[in-house]
Amino acid sequence: MYESLGISSRVYEFGQEIIEGLKERFEKIDQVAEYNQLKVLSAMQKNRVSEACLGTSTGYGYNDLGRDTLEQVYADTFHAQAALVRPQITCGTHALAIALFGNLRPGDELLSIAGKPYDTLEEVIGIRPSKGSLAEYGITYRQVELHEDGSFDYEKIQEAINDRTKLVTIQRSKGYQTRPSFSVAQIGEAIAFVKKCRPELPCMVDNCYGEFVDVIEPTDVGADLMVGSLIKNPGGGLAPIGGYIVGKKELVENASYRMTSPGLGMEVGATLGVNQAFYQGFFLAPMVVKGALKGAIFAANVYEKLGFPVIPNGTEPRQDIIQAVTLGSPEGVVAFCKGIQAAAPVDSYVEPEPWDMPGYDSQVIMAAGAFVQGSSIELSADGPMKPPYAVYFQGGLTWEHAKLGILKSLQKLVDENLVRLP
Ligand SMILES: *Cc1c(COP(=O)(O)O)cnc(C)c1O
Repeated sequence: MYESLGISSRVYEFGQEIIEGLKERFEKIDQVAEYNQLKVLSAMQKNRVSEACLGTSTGYGYNDLGRDTLEQVYADTFHAQAALVRPQITCGTHALAIALFGNLRPGDELLSIAGKPYDTLEEVIGIRPSKGSLAEYGITYRQVELHEDGSFDYEKIQEAINDRTKLVTIQRSKGYQTRPSFSVAQIGEAIAFVKKCRPELPCMVDNCYGEFVDVIEPTDVGADLMVGSLIKNPGGGLAPIGGYIVGKKELVENASYRMTSPGLGMEVGATLGVNQAFYQGFFLAPMVVKGALKGAIFAANVYEKLGFPVIPNGTEPRQDIIQAVTLGSPEGVVAFCKGIQAAAPVDSYVEPEPWDMPGYDSQVIMAAGAFVQGSSIELSADGPMKPPYAVYFQGGLTWEHAKLGILKSLQKLVDENLVRLP
């Protein structure tokens, strides 16, 4: 089958050899997934998820049993008091924006203790001037840079906390930066430090790409709010849209008044037929994350062995599902992305090309052949066309598909003489 999909026997053999060496690593990932599968199942059973929950609502969506039960399932899975899990939340950025706007008031200050946040949040906060930003509403922002090695700068954090600081934000995943992603334990330490400085100061974690990578989540180590996207890990590839916010009841409720309207909060919001996909996706999510993690580790080891810098490297522990590979040349980035695209279930015949995307200072190439548009829990890759010519690779609804995608990327590089197999 690999041959018929265009993988040469040399590329296949090279891949198999690497997989042989990853057996123990993969077993550990299986164990985390098994634990998380039971965690989700247990929350579903505790909340008596029934066939009626898979139904739908329209209009205002009052008394949507499926929606309300699902939110309790999320809250219990993440050991939190309350949750919002809604198709009205359009993406991760929107979920984060709702959490911020709902919990900050004019005159308040937001403090990021993990350096620069994800690109799209720059406009939400107003770091880059933007219509409707927190800055326009008189909410100020302060940021504490991380130490050179990517660790928290506790001294500067203490200095930055002032009377106006009303929310602390921490991004778990590196996103498209080169710092290491934080472990849940590291996040727990940072939160404990913030609470030592000011016990009542709420801490929010942007958990995008982190869900189910570990057996604990930021809400297990003191996060008051945790936010993510349903077209990443917790949607399990089945959620067609959505975001979630979990945490302390009061803070989640504050967010709900921004999601819908003051006075309405979480009482309204029809589910329009998505309940089943939300439940089933969440049920499958630990298994899907397992496949994506194996794919990321396989890619790291394949490309590391061929001499390319990879972040994280082939052996270090994982905190999210993103893998960066520095290919070092524009041709390398293009060939890699073409390989990922060619392995897709949808649009496999399309050849991606670099283009001038709004908001970026260089051309960007993206590969995605996804069932859900832009879904990055599905196998996808993208790379800015500028030095050091790195691609960011993530997802794969199954390990088997991720494996094919990586072999296919390597095949393209081999075919174009951009790499030589040992
Ligand atoms: C993807 C991501 C976001 C934004 O999510 P979208 O769904 O793309 O809006 C925010 N933060 C991090 C760390 C992310 O990875």
